[in-house]
Amino acid sequence: MAAVASASLRAPLIRLSRVSKDYGTGAGVVHAMRDVDLAIDQGEFVAVVGASGSGKSTMMNVLGCLDRPTRGTYDLAGIDVAQRKGDSRAIVRNRVIGFVFQGFNLLPRTTALENVELPLQYRGVGVRERRRRAVAALEAVGLASRMHHTQNQLSGGQQQRVAIARALVTDPPLLLADEPTGNLDTRTSLDVLALLQKLNRERGITVVLVTHEREIAACASRIIEMRDGRIVSDTRCAEPVDAARALAGLPSIRDVEEDCEPVASRRDLRSPSAATSSSVPWNVYPMMWLADATGALAAASYVVFILHGSGASALWAAAIFGEVTKAWSGARWCRRSLGRPMSSDQRWHVAFGYTLGITGLGLALVTAAAMWPRVAEPSGAHFLLDAAAATLGRGWFVFATVIAAAVAGIVLLRYLLLSLLAPRR
Ligand code: ADP
Ligand code: MG
Repeated sequence: MAAVASASLRAPLIRLSRVSKDYGTGAGVVHAMRDVDLAIDQGEFVAVVGASGSGKSTMMNVLGCLDRPTRGTYDLAGIDVAQRKGDSRAIVRNRVIGFVFQGFNLLPRTTALENVELPLQYRGVGVRERRRRAVAALEAVGLASRMHHTQNQLSGGQQQRVAIARALVTDPPLLLADEPTGNLDTRTSLDVLALLQKLNRERGITVVLVTHEREIAACASRIIEMRDGRIVSDTRCAEPVDAARALAGLPSIRDVEEDCEPVASRRDLRSPSAATSSSVPWNVYPMMWLADATGALAAASYVVFILHGSGASALWAAAIFGEVTKAWSGARWCRRSLGRPMSSDQRWHVAFGYTLGITGLGLALVTAAAMWPRVAEPSGAHFLLDAAAATLGRGWFVFATVIAAAVAGIVLLRYLLLSLLAPRR
């Protein structure tokens, strides 16, 4: 293990170089992996995505030393495993890799504790030590109270937790999971993901998981997409979805792909609808309006009653402070609902939507009030209307340009405030 650990400090934990895997079938040769180059460092959390038949499972089998590549080299923790014979590969596999499968693969009529003890039993670890480590692993996955339950007394999510405990009981630096949430509902999937993220963060375990669900992939810090046996995109996410937070904020988990930057050249694009998703919760707008009104009222009261300022300065203070409280509350509200800070697209969306919607509504009200027989003489509404009339006097084109410039300026200001006041994480 020490040799493995020191080797992994120098080189990536996983390095595939021009790896191909062919399967001979009656109908000819299937090229399940074609010239795949891939390096994964210790501590990464990688999601492998792609359509059915794109070669994900084949790559996982190669990575997991369950299958040998037809061509190319595979270095695992500094050991060239592609060339090794079956027994020797099995030794490396048992020391370095923990496996989690879609179907959990627990032994029936056997308790959670016995299932988790099994890999240690194969290694010849003594009874007491075996029990101690299995108990610790089950505690780590939050199943201390279910140790003596058998498979049919556990829910799907709990069975997968037992499987994760079984994979981790031998302390492998690498966890490979092929569709670990494929048999689970969204909530339970996120629960399992939250556990994997915790193990990755707290223990530095490298996680490589296959999934066909975008929401699950969004929890990884790196997403590798396969097509026809090739890696067609390799993307790092600066801010992967925190599964525990997303779970708290269900059902509003959103696509995070806007925050991703391509690592390697990308030969293929993600589906356009997924890549451009920038929707925000609708209730952010009334929330911002409320924050604006509260902030503006507080600022105006402060100027008038405490500073004894003029009406005009109170208006200015209300406008400025209202903008700040509005952006602050909008950014925080979205952070709560989305389970992560807004992406740049979403900040534009909010700035634009708010300006066109609520400000448009406000302007319409002000104009209507001002056009009504003048009730209160010197009001802000009349000032606006007079300014509009003066601009209109110079022609429609000038009027439209001034309005467009004003709206664009306000949208930009709001975008900048949202960016400035958004929580970082
Ligand atoms: P995925 O996991 O992405 O669904 P797979 O890696 O299972 O894809 O399969 C990739 C391709 O290789 C598919 O065309 C599949 O039919 C083929 N394939 C996988 N395993 C075998 C096998 N043992 N024998 C023949 N063809 C296989
Ligand atoms: Mg598969």
